[in-house]
Amino acid sequence: MKVEDAGKVADAVKLVDTYGRKINYLRLSVTDRCNMRCRYCMPETGVGKLSHHDVLSYEELHRIARAAVALGVEKIRVTGGEPLVRKGIVPFLAGLSAIPGLKQLVLTSNGQLLEEMAGDLRAAGVQRLNISLDSLDAERFGAITRVGDLKRVLAGIAAADRAGFPVKINMVVMRGVNDDEIEAVASLALEHPYAVRFIEYMPSGREESWQSLVVPGSEILERLSARFQLQQLAPAELAGPAREYRVAGAVGTVGIITPVTGHFCADCNRIRVTSTGKAKSCLFSGGELDLKPFLAEGDAALLEDALRRIVEGKPGRHQLTAESAEHTPFLMSAIGG
Ligand code: SAM
Ligand code: SF4
Repeated sequence: MKVEDAGKVADAVKLVDTYGRKINYLRLSVTDRCNMRCRYCMPETGVGKLSHHDVLSYEELHRIARAAVALGVEKIRVTGGEPLVRKGIVPFLAGLSAIPGLKQLVLTSNGQLLEEMAGDLRAAGVQRLNISLDSLDAERFGAITRVGDLKRVLAGIAAADRAGFPVKINMVVMRGVNDDEIEAVASLALEHPYAVRFIEYMPSGREESWQSLVVPGSEILERLSARFQLQQLAPAELAGPAREYRVAGAVGTVGIITPVTGHFCADCNRIRVTSTGKAKSCLFSGGELDLKPFLAEGDAALLEDALRRIVEGKPGRHQLTAESAEHTPFLMSAIGG
């Protein structure tokens, strides 16, 4: 085969949507259950227990991951709910990390179980951890997460660092709730090699007057710039939508993620699959496709076709603006953020 023909074959398996965006990032949720109840993500009573039959088995999740990688996905983020509460997660991750062609396996966690599990996650081949941390004040942390223990997250972050993980810390910024801690949380990057990122609060449940909770990324940046000397960094390979900054005199970096006010849709490279097998091309727009029928057939070609279809239907951008939300309300814990 001529080299240019081989190139064409390689291009044909790539997932490219109708807007020309190359889709190379899969967010794979392994559970909708969680050991916290963050106010912006889950009802206080938690979520109804899905039956064993509804949740995909690890074998089914592996099949989806392999099909996605065969189509050009290079990065998989395992998420939830809280991924570390699902039994057998470590061997599952080891299986994922062994998929030929997968360049990055990363995981998002609330950190509650990390102190015990960080070493095993590293040994399983997870390359990076994103850890959620919305407050450094124990009482406030408890109020936001309803049942979370700040000490456990901080111990988890330290354990992840010791285990050799590059650590990203994610803070969902909410006006009047925790926005007075932006500078304090950013200061964690001064002495630790952490990438600390600030995420605009998203109205997944279309709560009334949700706009009042959103602190626009531009304002977060202004506040960080007033306190620290920042220099914008070029995006890393397979980077997500964060704008990252070097902080003068700091070991770590800070970043801002603007799902509400920013228009990173133009560079969106992701699809999502929930723990019940629903593939989604956008958090806020477009439909979803149930992958279960294609898994039952056990035919990789059918599954790949289904993934191609979800990518073909990916909208150009979501219809969420700083003024209005036009999506159907959903539980972030069910989709994986
Ligand atoms: N349990 C893990 C955790 O909390 O890191 C992983 C799942 S959680 C759904 C993934 C990410 O979504 C977390 O960083 C969380 O803070 C974020 N998230 C959840 N609801 C959100 C919301 N309404 N607005 C912005 N971020 C949200
Ligand atoms: Fe659980 Fe993560 Fe949702 Fe908090 S944000 S309730 S930790 S899934």
